[in-house]
Amino acid sequence: MKRALSLLAFVSLLACNGDDAAPVTARTDAGAPQAPAHDLGLADSTVVCKTCSPALLAAKRKGIRLAMLLLPAYAGSDVRAANAPVTFHLDGDDLCGTADEMRRTYGFVTGKCTIDPTGRAHVCLFDVEKDDRAQPFTPANARLLTDQVLPLHEATHLWLIGRVADERAYEPFAKMVSLALSGSMPDACAFRVAGGVDQLVAALCDAGMTAADLPDVLRLLDVASRAKGAALTNAELASVVSAVIGGDATPAFRAAGLL
Ligand SMILES: [Zn+2]
Repeated sequence: MKRALSLLAFVSLLACNGDDAAPVTARTDAGAPQAPAHDLGLADSTVVCKTCSPALLAAKRKGIRLAMLLLPAYAGSDVRAANAPVTFHLDGDDLCGTADEMRRTYGFVTGKCTIDPTGRAHVCLFDVEKDDRAQPFTPANARLLTDQVLPLHEATHLWLIGRVADERAYEPFAKMVSLALSGSMPDACAFRVAGGVDQLVAALCDAGMTAADLPDVLRLLDVASRAKGAALTNAELASVVSAVIGGDATPAFRAAGLL
């Protein structure tokens, strides 16, 4: 359990709200703007690393690719096309900054996501520099789905953009989805912490939610936000969860300080 909890010692440090996202366009060889042949999504993600060996980069590409195929299928929809393709950065670079900068600012190294001026999303993982990974960063481990907790966590943050208005509500859902979908903690209800927004997980599970309800919550959340034409409030999000679990999720949101 201690190992599982240390795995959870990550947070998303940047907002990833993407309000000023610009539409993505492709260019022909002649330079004329042209709409992409299909809406870009998580499956179009790329992975970069300055210092990884070719074998390590290839293995992590496989792992992230699998995770980014699974998340849209699990949620029934994708991230906003304007934010895709997402680039996953495995080590520090000009865009992500350095792990030492993060350590100085926050006291530890974790992942973060951000939106660049063109609207595309980037996820900084610091896989190379992190010294508290759940499993060593080796080619054998990097391709495993259980090694994709943090990519799935940050991708869930990105998925929630435009669907839920209050970014404070992103964190507990990103944790539940990434733990369940990666197989690291298939019963996401086992993640029980006191205090802060993360206690929403235990409170919802006590109200009757199970990990098996998560895909339905995401699907109904997508439908409700599209019907509204805007991101849902926390009260509306609680109504979505209530509809899925057949019970009142509102007290759980109140307990977590989200209502
Ligand atoms: Zn997060």
